[in-house]
Amino acid sequence: KVLCAAGIVAGLLAFFWKDTFDPETLSGARVLLTGASAGIGEQMAYHYASFGAEIVLTARREAVLQKVMKKCLKLGAKKVFYIPADMSSSSEPEKVVQFAVQKLGGLDYLVLNHIGMTPFQMWDGDVEHTRWLMQVNFFSYVALATAALPTLEENKGSLVVVSSLTGKIPTPFTTSYSATKFALDGFFSSLRHELTMQKKNIFITLCILGLIDTDMALEKTRGKVYIAASPAAEAALAIIQGGASRVQEVFYPWWLEYMCRFRDWFPNHRDQVLQSYYNYSSP
Ligand code: NDP
Repeated sequence: KVLCAAGIVAGLLAFFWKDTFDPETLSGARVLLTGASAGIGEQMAYHYASFGAEIVLTARREAVLQKVMKKCLKLGAKKVFYIPADMSSSSEPEKVVQFAVQKLGGLDYLVLNHIGMTPFQMWDGDVEHTRWLMQVNFFSYVALATAALPTLEENKGSLVVVSSLTGKIPTPFTTSYSATKFALDGFFSSLRHELTMQKKNIFITLCILGLIDTDMALEKTRGKVYIAASPAAEAALAIIQGGASRVQEVFYPWWLEYMCRFRDWFPNHRDQVLQSYYNYSSP
């Protein structure tokens, strides 16, 4: 009965949420998208393009960004530029935002999506890797957002931050990654309060994703996790719709929301269930 009621409530929420999304609002919207060369970021680029947005794409690999740019133009993007940048370098975020503002004349959306490579394995004591990952997955997000706040405020824009279930509920094999995603929630949820208190018209959407079928995620989790992966194109659309509808938190797939809401009710049971989805054979 409880599950049935939850399903009805979720259905109604999904209905109203979809209803508030107007694709027209994205026509001509100026978007800076990170991690745009592959995976969910690449799919977001194609959706924004087909909605008629003006886009600046960034990631490290120039040749791949060029290909994504060409496809975006074919799909109907009004303007597309790209800038190769490595977010492990602390000077890159500001440069990227300056480039985007100069090319597009301002920003309506900053979509923070990139992540650094990290192994999906037991903690091996590599503190230096955790420090590096914090730079790529967290500090560069803070620096990009900080550089973009003035233009977002001027244009009543939105910050869209892509996070993960492991940024709400810690799961095995993701120690450093999970830490970077929890840090994002702490920083951007606190910043959201402060923007409201200062009556600044910038909206922050935090996106909580489950396992998605990107090449990288499938390769890393193969044989280690027994969970079905959801399609990247659908995840990308959920993020874009949530950002455009100014939803505080997007959960994709939808049932993650209920997992997160109930996470502290039965901690022992929750942890047993979580561990049962992971394959761990001791060495
Ligand atoms: P991918 O690994 O497929 O893509 C990562 C993107 O980040 C690529 O465009 C890559 O391009 C770029 N990137 C990698 N390293 C750097 C760097 N040092 N500087 C700048 N850009 C970099 O990731 P996903 O699409 O799977 O993930 C996208 C988002 O979704 C992430 O925030 C992730 O945490 C989140 N997420 C994904 C899940 C999944 O199962 N896939 C689950 C939960 C959350 P390049 O190599 O050209 O630099």
